[in-house]
Amino acid sequence: MKFIDEYRNAEAAQAVASAIASITTRPWTIMEICGGQTHTIVKYGIESLLPKEISLVHGPGCPVCVTPIGMIDKAIAVASMADVIFTSFGDMLRVPGSEKDLLTVKAEGGTVRIVYSPLDAVTIAQKNPDKQVVFFAVGFETTAPANAMAVFQAKRLGIKNFSILCSHVLVPPAIEAILSSPQNLVQGFLAAGHVCTVMGYEEYIPLTDTYRVPIVVTGFEPVDILQGIYMTIKQLEEGRYEVENQYARAVRREGNIPAKQLLAEIFETTDRTWRGIGEIPSSGYKLREPYTEYDAENKYRVSSERLWHHGVSRHIEHQESNLCIAGLVLQGLKKPHECSAFRTECTPERPLGAPMVSSEGACAAYYQYQPFFQE
Ligand code: SF4
Repeated sequence: MKFIDEYRNAEAAQAVASAIASITTRPWTIMEICGGQTHTIVKYGIESLLPKEISLVHGPGCPVCVTPIGMIDKAIAVASMADVIFTSFGDMLRVPGSEKDLLTVKAEGGTVRIVYSPLDAVTIAQKNPDKQVVFFAVGFETTAPANAMAVFQAKRLGIKNFSILCSHVLVPPAIEAILSSPQNLVQGFLAAGHVCTVMGYEEYIPLTDTYRVPIVVTGFEPVDILQGIYMTIKQLEEGRYEVENQYARAVRREGNIPAKQLLAEIFETTDRTWRGIGEIPSSGYKLREPYTEYDAENKYRVSSERLWHHGVSRHIEHQESNLCIAGLVLQGLKKPHECSAFRTECTPERPLGAPMVSSEGACAAYYQYQPFFQE
């Protein structure tokens, strides 16, 4: 298949790995931002093809993983309401909140439905005018255009019983937070190709200039990843720090302009808390006027600590597992198998943290593809 087979070709991968070895003269630490890239790296054993001087660490680009526990608790509280049909992509259902997950809400009788598009949730709202339909809008810039379109359509069609619980996060502020941390180890980044398909890569240029780190927009197949690493190492060895585009078959410098225009129409930036990391200024989206009537946080008056609906207040306690080091994993400071709970107290069947649940989570990748990783 075009753009798949040639990017999974073993000989091509070996050739790029040899090229990387030929230019590497000293230790370098590179972070791949996206959880999809993490899974490719672990699934295909890419680190084993690299010289021992190169260390790959895994970044915060798993949207399920960085959705804060307070937001999961809000979702659970809203989904538990009798008149609500709560809709979500499937991978959010097993993410642990403080007391339970959305799947448990469903088992207890709540109406929680998996959808494959936020527009499906708008259709559900049209068909159920006596119910409130809420979509859990989680993700990076990649999923934001579809969620923006759902809100745009709901307003255009005059649908009043639809809203989104919005927990969108943005990649560039996360990179900046990692780079400005005193603990930072990362010297170069593989940026997420699909995010840049939407947003382009101009917004990364100030980061390379300020922090003097190379950022290479990279795809998701094994040869993509190896080429991204090669381009990053080449810059590091030559003392350059630029934005380069390995994923040129999908990404243009300016991105997808209609999608960006829609995002600007529907959303504005806001401070967001990232699970395990903390608050990062201007790192997320919230609905802007005149679309705030579609904001479930406004509709249900959910705050970080209390939830109000129909005059009833409920206290929300946020409680993380004290064994889970997901915050360190998401910042590239630890690897999943360095967590004492990995594969013991924490498994995909009984996850303690979101990185073990998500199809993009680093802990799930190590569990699935690297069974020899065990403390
Ligand atoms: S293995 Fe489980 S407990 Fe440990 S960091 Fe990953 S999700 Fe958290």
